[in-house]
Amino acid sequence: MGIDTTMNITIPFNRSSLCGRELEYIFQTITIGQIAGDQTFSKKCQALLEQTLGVPRALVTTSCTHALEMTALLLDVQPGDEVIVPSFTFVSTVNAFVLRGARPVFCDVRPDTLNLDESMLEALITPHTKAIVLVHYAGVGCELDPIMEIARRHGVAVVEDNAHGLFGKYKGRWLGSFGNLAAQSFHETKNITCGEGGAILINDARFVDRAEIIREKGTNRSRFFRGQVDKYSWVDIGSSYLMSDVLAAFLYAQLEVWQTIQAKRRSIWQRYHAELAAWCLRNGVRQPFIPDHCEQAFHMYYLLLPSPRARTALIAHLMASGILAVFHYLPLHLSEFAARWDGRHHDCPVTETVSDLLLRLPFYNSLAETEQERVIEAILAFQCE
Ligand SMILES: *Cc1c(COP(=O)(O)O)cnc(C)c1O
Repeated sequence: MGIDTTMNITIPFNRSSLCGRELEYIFQTITIGQIAGDQTFSKKCQALLEQTLGVPRALVTTSCTHALEMTALLLDVQPGDEVIVPSFTFVSTVNAFVLRGARPVFCDVRPDTLNLDESMLEALITPHTKAIVLVHYAGVGCELDPIMEIARRHGVAVVEDNAHGLFGKYKGRWLGSFGNLAAQSFHETKNITCGEGGAILINDARFVDRAEIIREKGTNRSRFFRGQVDKYSWVDIGSSYLMSDVLAAFLYAQLEVWQTIQAKRRSIWQRYHAELAAWCLRNGVRQPFIPDHCEQAFHMYYLLLPSPRARTALIAHLMASGILAVFHYLPLHLSEFAARWDGRHHDCPVTETVSDLLLRLPFYNSLAETEQERVIEAILAFQCE
């Protein structure tokens, strides 16, 4: 969104911070001379993700966007294939597949969790459907039981864009461990970050070898370094999706304290939720809904205002107090670029409504109690007309 930079923002929407031993670990990578990819700290990050989430293989990447591109390559997505995606998401969820020539088939979201509406899924599946891509919005799990069942029945792959959902659970099981493949983001705006970065989680062991090759420019360099082949050569298509170990060092310092980070975010989330509850009720504002069987990842705190006008007014009111609150995704099915897929165009009325009403409050690991208090007090001083 356009931000008036002349305004004096004292509580930003997001702010990155050090959470542990980031600087010490970065210094180590430089002094031991390991600053390229796939070295000590990349491996530590991967091992931590594999062990914590119980996934067979995790590979750190340059971004979540690139991890999603890898999933499209691994699934051999081709021109003519269709990929079912929520309209209410970030462009990369869809672009990764469109880059391979696939046609996006947009699915609306549930009005309660804002996740892909599984009741509409089956009607969107055709013989051309290659994959269903899920986003666990705000870190709350999609209805994975019915979705995985539908995918199995139709022989369609499932990819989780788990950018919001790291360390969230659905029915006791980690988000990111359900789909054949999943993608994580460590962008500055995410719970755990290294500035720009991501990871691909490979739950379907068939894809492990090829994922290593695609990430290493189409070569079997990983096997070479493990001594499994005596020279490395060009064996497949690929690109350069390796994270630098300098960033992996930063990332590892955050990953190793993930429980502290998540606990901090839980307390911020719960405080917004409790202290705004009565105000929301009075003003016709809807708070996030978390199903009982989901343990959310505390990625964001959002409100659904009663009207677009009320949202605009609240943004301006907060801005006047130096607080930046922002809306979120514009419906992708209405985007200029989506217009090129005429024909099977689906309405996504919930997405359109939610996109007009949703407001995200400042939410970051270093948000101080006094800062959060200022945000809450400013909201309590506002009335929706
Ligand atoms: C942040 C985000 C991405 C992109 O992540 P990058 O690491 O910046 O590529 C993709 N999907 C969703 C849902 C996101 O929130």
